[in-house]
Amino acid sequence: VPLILPDFLDRAVTLYGEKVAVHCEGRTVTYQQLNGRVNQLSNGLRKLGVDKGDRIAYLAGNTLEMLEGFYGVFQLGAVMVPLNIRLKPEDYVFILNHSESKVLFVDQDLYSLIEPIIVQLETVENIIVHYKEQDTNATDYDSWLASHISTDFDRADIDENDMCSLLYTSGTTGNPKGVMLTHRNNYLHAMSTMHHLRVKESDIYLHVLPMFHVNGWGAPFYYTANGATHICSRKTTPESIFKALQDYRVTVLHMAPTVLNALLQYHDEHHPVVEQDVRVVIAGSAPPPAFITRVEEELGWEFIQVYGMTESSPLSLVSTIHSHLTDLPKVQQTVLKSKAGYPMIGSDVRVLGANGDEVEHDGVQVGEVAVRGHGVMKGYWKNEQATQETLRDGWLFTGDMGTVDEYGYINIVDRKKDVIISGGENISSIEVEGVLYEHPAVLEAAVIAVPHEKWGETPHAYIVLRENMEAAEEEIIAFSRERLAHFKAVTGITFVDELPKTASGKIQKVQIRDAYWEARG
Ligand code: ATP
Ligand code: MG
Repeated sequence: VPLILPDFLDRAVTLYGEKVAVHCEGRTVTYQQLNGRVNQLSNGLRKLGVDKGDRIAYLAGNTLEMLEGFYGVFQLGAVMVPLNIRLKPEDYVFILNHSESKVLFVDQDLYSLIEPIIVQLETVENIIVHYKEQDTNATDYDSWLASHISTDFDRADIDENDMCSLLYTSGTTGNPKGVMLTHRNNYLHAMSTMHHLRVKESDIYLHVLPMFHVNGWGAPFYYTANGATHICSRKTTPESIFKALQDYRVTVLHMAPTVLNALLQYHDEHHPVVEQDVRVVIAGSAPPPAFITRVEEELGWEFIQVYGMTESSPLSLVSTIHSHLTDLPKVQQTVLKSKAGYPMIGSDVRVLGANGDEVEHDGVQVGEVAVRGHGVMKGYWKNEQATQETLRDGWLFTGDMGTVDEYGYINIVDRKKDVIISGGENISSIEVEGVLYEHPAVLEAAVIAVPHEKWGETPHAYIVLRENMEAAEEEIIAFSRERLAHFKAVTGITFVDELPKTASGKIQKVQIRDAYWEARG
């Protein structure tokens, strides 16, 4: 049997046809109805001349339209190109032309991002607008969909190794790259993830992570396949999230730690009384143990950390505590959860030293994290050089540095590009940030390497203070010196109102480094 993604929706329709598939901004559709809309969409696209292998771009928030787009595109054998909604106009020109997208779907409230650049688009033949309000030349999605009345579709002949998505990386470290993933990649990734996250039919999943980013991208597969219910809307705030928890009795959340941090802060300040059934919250990006304890104690949600990257579909590590470790003291279990985790089923993840051999499982020796397994991409789209640099000897080299402990849990120490080298010692910017986050006045912190006459480089922090809180530079420096080896302590601080972030909530250190150099002149 070929492992192709439309199977997931078929399964949901057969087993859970009358169940609510999606609640989105006041609309509710069952799996049966979702399937009908998906088929209309595929028929409409076929009529526009879309064929197997063609690229279809989406500039959309978390909506019913986006969700049906996945399956509508996949069953044609076409390729979904989701676009980050926070890019600059020139990035849209680059990605749409680079991917040679044929059709572009866009939400009305994002249309103004596209309008000025339409003339520069070389391959886009049709622009179709969701929630169309204004009078533009673009096609209105609802009436276009309604004109394709047949809710049956004659599915294309799809091979499991066909490309189904072209996702551009977050651009945290430079220009985004187009990652080619196949049906098989996404299918097996979903199977593994639904096992580790214990996804079940009764789950109610609130989309907080954007579906256009690889972390949010997986949810339409594993929750759909199990007949769980999707809750989505274009805007979420801490207030709307707490409200949705109660209104829909959400059971699973997945979000960036920065958003989770904002939820904690909202909870501290407003004490919302919410009747809720959240069983677990999933997040990446190495939050410190103290943060995990707050989530588990103040919000009462089990915390699971995951690790992944666009190039591996994305997830390959998960920090759930295996049964042979549940006797460990709670503190030690929390330390394990603060690590990226243990390899997921179907992923082989190793930490390789400079000589290419695996490092000792001692939690100390640092090497580069390498992944192989079902999730690893075909390569970067039209970028043979980057593909060769990243996929070597059968491994995906992640560019992340890590350690492995005696239990096999991998800890991400830092990105190779963010490590600070001071007096010949490697300093993890993440470790230093973890200490800064313990300071009561610190809301957000990012540590970068800056030049130092004597040591070569030294850690410098960019800090956002909590509202109505104050702290002096010397005080925070002293705070970090008390808690870290002196060579790791920050030697300077720049206070800012906010830190630059990607649409998925990651702090963009490239931009912070640029700002630092600009300020130095
Ligand atoms: P670009 O590749 O364009 O610079 P990016 O690497 O941020 O952007 P993504 O694929 O979205 O793009 O993110 C993957 C990266 O996120 C990983 O390589 C890693 O650095 C970081 N990451 C993911 N999960 C974790 C985690 N649990 N702990 C620490 N870092 C993580
Ligand atoms: Mg990357």
